[in-house]
Amino acid sequence: MIMNLYTNNMSEIKKNIENVRSRMAEACEKSGRAAEDVRLIAVSKTKPVSALQEAYECGCRDFGENKVQELVEKYEALPKDIRWHMIGHLQRNKVKYIVDKVYLIHSVDSLRLAQEIEKEAAKIEKTVNILIEVNVAAEESKFGVAAEEALALAEEIAKMPHIRVKGLMTIAPYVEDAEENRQYFEKLKKIYVDIIHKNIDNVFMEELSMGMTGDYEVAISEGATCIRVGTGIFGERNYGSI
Ligand SMILES: *Cc1c(COP(=O)(O)O)cnc(C)c1O
Repeated sequence: MIMNLYTNNMSEIKKNIENVRSRMAEACEKSGRAAEDVRLIAVSKTKPVSALQEAYECGCRDFGENKVQELVEKYEALPKDIRWHMIGHLQRNKVKYIVDKVYLIHSVDSLRLAQEIEKEAAKIEKTVNILIEVNVAAEESKFGVAAEEALALAEEIAKMPHIRVKGLMTIAPYVEDAEENRQYFEKLKKIYVDIIHKNIDNVFMEELSMGMTGDYEVAISEGATCIRVGTGIFGERNYGSI
């Protein structure tokens, strides 16, 4: 009885975070990885500041947003030790608003975007960490470079003094059975290893950002270092009310 009361009083977000953390730990253990090797990014797009505050109180320090204005507003409203991850398609004319605020941009998918980031980062004398977004599943509707283009883009961006290429990101298709996405995580890992073997100056392949609510355990077993979980922490998103 008392247990039930306790469980019911615990907030949904807190329960969800505990659930995700324990499933992450289990997935790490199964594949012989250390739990600290996988970072949980709480994807808070469309959610109010109060929800992020609650996740913050549960120890979350990494938050992912996909819109520049929303990221900037939440950045202003929340503690400064949060690491902000830009995970959505980034327009060049908006780079200037976030370049001083982001910890990592996951969604670099063109040379022109990288050039803009370089220009804005140089202005504030900062080095910006980025991932190259790869459309491994070759979905029409998705951003990201084709698998064959990732290496060439990494080589070009490596020449930019205010950008550090830290790894690769992909958004896998929406599927009912997470196992269907294993092939794409494997493929991203392979591209990552190929780039490591090229030993490119100023390319530091350390991060594989892959796996979302529906498939993060599979992604972890294929080597993900960052998983991006939205629904699994904050519940369904309601785009209608935004
Ligand atoms: C929204 C989003 C996520 C989180 O998706 P969920 O299925 O809600 O976990 C992850 N990555 C990107 C790039 C997103 O836009």
